[in-house]
Amino acid sequence: MKSINLLGSTGSIGVQSLDVARRNSFRVRSIAAYSNIALLEQQAREFNPDLVAVVDKKAAADLKIKLADTGIKVLSGLEGVCEAGCAKGEITVNAIVGMAGLRPTLAAIEAKKTIALANKETLVAAGSLVISKAKRNGVSVLPVDSEHSAVFQCLQGAPPNKALKKIIITASGGPFFGKTKQELKNVTVSDALKHPNWKMGPKITVDSATMFNKGLELIEAVWLFDMKPENIDIVIHRESIVHSLVEFDDNSVIAQLGYPDMRLPIQYALTYPDRYPSAERELNLADVGTLTFYKPDYDTFICIDICRRAIEKGGLYPAAANSANEQANSLFREGKISFLEIGELVKDAAFSVPDVAEFTAQDIENIDVEMRNAVNLLLR
Ligand code: NDP
Repeated sequence: MKSINLLGSTGSIGVQSLDVARRNSFRVRSIAAYSNIALLEQQAREFNPDLVAVVDKKAAADLKIKLADTGIKVLSGLEGVCEAGCAKGEITVNAIVGMAGLRPTLAAIEAKKTIALANKETLVAAGSLVISKAKRNGVSVLPVDSEHSAVFQCLQGAPPNKALKKIIITASGGPFFGKTKQELKNVTVSDALKHPNWKMGPKITVDSATMFNKGLELIEAVWLFDMKPENIDIVIHRESIVHSLVEFDDNSVIAQLGYPDMRLPIQYALTYPDRYPSAERELNLADVGTLTFYKPDYDTFICIDICRRAIEKGGLYPAAANSANEQANSLFREGKISFLEIGELVKDAAFSVPDVAEFTAQDIENIDVEMRNAVNLLLR
């Protein structure tokens, strides 16, 4: 029986991961979240994990009282989440949103857990640290993101990496595809939260609207597949049926297709290298009819190029771009800045960090604080 530790269990990916676990009777050894104890209690009672971790200390104390009749251990703080990531499950799913996922990923790698990674921000910020630690510990980092799962699936049975010429990541284009800068000036938070194809947490939904999400995915692909940024293309594909493609030296292109449903890539990460029957509908291409592809509008959606430039410069630049975006994304959702200001603030803040070749997790956390402050200062 498969067993998992699940960090971020109350979020969009977390809930879908539990659905996959429920359908396949996987054992859930730990769950963790920030503060949503109502849902954590429900999940704990259904899945009976060994432990539950809650970052917020007051919420953790309340949950401990609620679960007093169960014998389930309740831990608190970041240390508690790290412990949950190192619990008895063979695979640790990291579905935490944002930089907060970094320490738990590093801790789970040290505990030699296979990592099923949805938490793309930490691979973007600390790709070299995460991948080198995983290699040293003989641990696999398996993609959960649908595009990277698609690439990973296309590469199964492929010759070694040298025959791989290009990765082509598809992008739905989000709710604002085809809009001009002028038209984007006054879009609201609720406009940005209306993703045409995917139902996701609020942060990634806004990232999809700005297309910063595609920039994050470009950097994620660099680390997961050991590819140079110039060999990763992005193509708009409105239908979100082709989840991504790979091109080999002979110009043969292989794609992975399916209806947009995150339970498939989540399940593949949990059952790899096996394939289990899935909850996803069978794809009917005749019903789909037409698949369309377009070049992204890089002038309007400047965030993709910000990320490309950050990974080309290397060092702390991807971490800086990611943290500046986390702050700007959250300010937009709080109604404090306009939609177009997100990209402008990130562009102005992220390239001010020092050029360094080597860094630690602490350096990345310092940059995180610096960038959040830098974005706030630019607003004054
Ligand atoms: P959600 O906002 O829906 O969920 C976030 C989860 O993280 C919640 O469980 C939340 O707990 C927890 N969390 C928030 N802050 C912290 C913290 N400081 N420490 C520990 N846990 C925390 O996000 P999504 O599920 O949409 O996204 C999760 C990750 O997966 C992101 O990195 C995203 O980019 C990636 N991803 C998401 C996809 C999707 O379809 N949703 C697709 C591909 C990738 P609480 O509920 O208590 O606040």
